[in-house]
Amino acid sequence: MRIGIIGAGQLGRMMALSGIPLGLQFTMYDRSAEVPGAAVAPIVTGAFDDLRALARFARGVDVMTFDWENVPVASVRAVEKIAPVWPPPRALAIGQDRLREKRLFQRLGIPVAPYAAVNDWHGLQRAIASLGTPGILKTLRLGYDGKGQSPLRQPADAAAAWRQLGGQPLLYERFVRFTREVSLIAARDQGGRIACYPLAENVHELGILAQTRAPFSDAGLQRAAERQAKRLLVELRYVGVLCVEYFVDRGRLVANELAPRVHNSGHWTIEGAETSQFENHIRAIAGMPLGSTRARGHAVMVNLIGRLPPAGKLLGIPGLHWHDYGKSPRPGRKLGHLTQVCATRRDCDRAAAAMRRIAGRRRTTESPLC
Ligand code: AMP
Repeated sequence: MRIGIIGAGQLGRMMALSGIPLGLQFTMYDRSAEVPGAAVAPIVTGAFDDLRALARFARGVDVMTFDWENVPVASVRAVEKIAPVWPPPRALAIGQDRLREKRLFQRLGIPVAPYAAVNDWHGLQRAIASLGTPGILKTLRLGYDGKGQSPLRQPADAAAAWRQLGGQPLLYERFVRFTREVSLIAARDQGGRIACYPLAENVHELGILAQTRAPFSDAGLQRAAERQAKRLLVELRYVGVLCVEYFVDRGRLVANELAPRVHNSGHWTIEGAETSQFENHIRAIAGMPLGSTRARGHAVMVNLIGRLPPAGKLLGIPGLHWHDYGKSPRPGRKLGHLTQVCATRRDCDRAAAAMRRIAGRRRTTESPLC
């Protein structure tokens, strides 16, 4: 079976790495051939809105998926007639629009932070008057890794936030004083069977995921997150892996966003779970049964952002797994990650501190307002 991946970044590369042992073949489509996926699969180059090139790509594969959530929905819909695309384009469309995402969460009874759509300066004033500050102004589209966001500590910050983001559809959201951030990775196969991983606990720095620890053991929150993920997967007639990111606020889950794809907060599953998120995604889209999502112990994953530490120093650490995506360094760019699996949570915390030191990340502040 030939799998086509639209987008050939590190996520596509890790999908292919997990699917090759299953006997599957991979081809990827991206704007350039200088991409992380090029190390493991042939790359077809073309623009993401070049329907002719995408159609040629689709004719060469049996099933398609994507590793980037900003692939134009119109492109995906145009080629799904040639080869099926999973997850479904509707999930992609919802994941690209914060407002549609929030409305879907609300319709399915999934709590979200109080918010208001903002279309002009007066709309922002009204949103601040009704929701108060602190809050965050966010673009509806193309926001990721903290991009397209502007925090407002007080109403007087509105003008600066408007200068930064005004002129496009926006959303103002009340700041959640969360105690933790967690995420759930769930998978659904073509027969409708669902498997969920244990919740993972995430730390963001300046809006970018810095560290994930899993499992985050809280039976009540796990049950609630799984119930909510199941509602989403069934509603979207989903096939593949879905990630839902949450704030934990006063012991309760508040959904922040969904990602209709494998997710950075699931990288720990490569070594830390019986079947990785990447393999389960590929199994699902290839029509295979899902594998066990059980954790193998306590795992911690630290992102390598902006620069890579020297590998030599690290590779001698017993049990440490080094992932270099083969990208050139740039401030704020995810270049790789480290994972360590330990027997206890305590060992995991010690390993995490050492890994952060190595990665040059000492801070563990979580919010864009810190
Ligand atoms: P997002 O792009 O929405 O995932 O936001 C990136 C990060 O910014 C989140 O993981 C949080 O750390 C922080 N953040 C976003 N929205 C809020 C909010 N309403 N309240 C508090 N922190 C937030």
